[in-house]
Amino acid sequence: LQDSKLARANLEENNRRTTNPFNIIFVSAEVAPYSKTGGLGDVCGSLPVALASRGHRMMVISPRYWSGPGDTRYAGAFDTQVRIKIGCFNGEHEVAFFHEYRAGVDWVFVDHHSYHRPGTPYGDTRGSFGDNQFRFTLLCHASCEAPLMLPLGGYTYGEKCLFIANDWHAGLVPIILASKYRKHGVYSGSRCILAIHNLAHQGVEPATTFNSLGLPSNWYGALEWVFPTWARTHALDKGEAVNHLKGAIVTADRIITVSQGYAWEITTQEGGYGLDGLLRSRKSVINGITNGVDVDEWDPATDKYIASQYTLEDLSGKAECKAALQKELGLAVRPDVPFIGFIGRLDYQKGPDIIQAALPELMTDDVQMVMLGSGESAIESWMSQAEFQHKDKFRGWVGFNVPLSHRITAGCDILVMPSRFEPCGLNQLYAMRYGTVPVVHSTGGLRDTVEDFNPFANGGQGLGTGWTFSPISKEAFMGALRTAIGTYRDHGDSWKGIMCRGMSQDFSWDRAALQYEQVFEWAMIDPP
Ligand code: ADP
Repeated sequence: LQDSKLARANLEENNRRTTNPFNIIFVSAEVAPYSKTGGLGDVCGSLPVALASRGHRMMVISPRYWSGPGDTRYAGAFDTQVRIKIGCFNGEHEVAFFHEYRAGVDWVFVDHHSYHRPGTPYGDTRGSFGDNQFRFTLLCHASCEAPLMLPLGGYTYGEKCLFIANDWHAGLVPIILASKYRKHGVYSGSRCILAIHNLAHQGVEPATTFNSLGLPSNWYGALEWVFPTWARTHALDKGEAVNHLKGAIVTADRIITVSQGYAWEITTQEGGYGLDGLLRSRKSVINGITNGVDVDEWDPATDKYIASQYTLEDLSGKAECKAALQKELGLAVRPDVPFIGFIGRLDYQKGPDIIQAALPELMTDDVQMVMLGSGESAIESWMSQAEFQHKDKFRGWVGFNVPLSHRITAGCDILVMPSRFEPCGLNQLYAMRYGTVPVVHSTGGLRDTVEDFNPFANGGQGLGTGWTFSPISKEAFMGALRTAIGTYRDHGDSWKGIMCRGMSQDFSWDRAALQYEQVFEWAMIDPP
């Protein structure tokens, strides 16, 4: 019933402004363009802008990861002079709040010296930071104070807010609201929605750390988590832990995941990462809403990173982007050769090992391939080695490089995503928007967004925007990729049809924002 209501919300978009504006607080560990390592940053940088344009008052709150005087990311954010002390981890920790008003959104940055480090929001070349539980506990406490304390534009957000806690880093928000504020009558009209972007990361820490979280002791049960026997390290290990995401699943008013497919997958044993039973028990308040994309940042007609802009009506710029990318990477500049790309984190989830297994066979074909990513060092070294082995066909670019990710998205013909699981996936959406055809594992958001090419449908004119494959194996991957390569080589019109159907889809946040609004109303007006 909920899903059909969400679908109707799509069709009934007749009013660009909401009639029911809320005060909304997004809490996230990363926010593009200030801090981004993946899709979480992209979503928290663009969905709030879409919601603000519909008339909601929007605050996005995240840490101020300032890495030194040369770091200009936060140059537009000013110190509000508001300071608060947060009691947790055996002390009182003072945090400051910085603020930038941009695109209709209050971007608030919590400042503390533990955020001032080189590296990503989560770690550096030596691995994850050892104090991430502390850093994100601070973020959660500060986020609950911000709406009451910060007079942004002259007025605080006040007590009637809708919090969106994104992933485990923000998982303490609903628990803090319930255990520390609501029992004193504060935030009694507020609600909290947990947005799950990736269930694989849960914030699991030793049970003894519970006493450091700044929560009343009788709330231990909300976070309590027992490891399965196989995951314990020795005979005396009772497997006791605290799990921040589990705490949020238990206490949030509603739960949103980033695609419908993923909303179902997390309730299965295979995709539930130990939380499936709990998630099944909350099924009535879980909704899947497929992500939109930032259509200004990712627009082939205006993209400042690519060699030549192009549109659906005039695709000539795409050929120029391909030639420029081949030249940049030192590959032969050949318009006819199928050019395959991969962009993503190099870890088990994204399946770079599937590409590794397939590469020797793929390299016997007349193709070119580029991989951009960073992560597991074994895969990084393999990429460098493969580049050496296949000098005239393969490039492995190790690192995080946003401009290059745009050039690959524009310049390649095919984008592969052999992800083992994918909550939503954004690269396939960017690819389709740029006329680059996705070949993806049939899972989660990839299955929801890529429609298999069928040359016979639509009166022989063909339907579909790419290829999906299953199971996740080298053979299935190669099967789909070979079909895509064959279509590219031998069926120019079909290929153009696939490109154009991808490019003409609506990937904007408008539709998803409307669906989010429906869930907001269920949470605020019609709580379960
Ligand atoms: P996830 O959030 O699981 O990493 P998504 O597909 O949802 O995956 O989002 C990944 C985002 O991160 C995309 O915007 C993608 O372009 C970007 N990205 C991933 N790896 C890199 C990289 N090495 N360089 C630049 N951008 C990257």
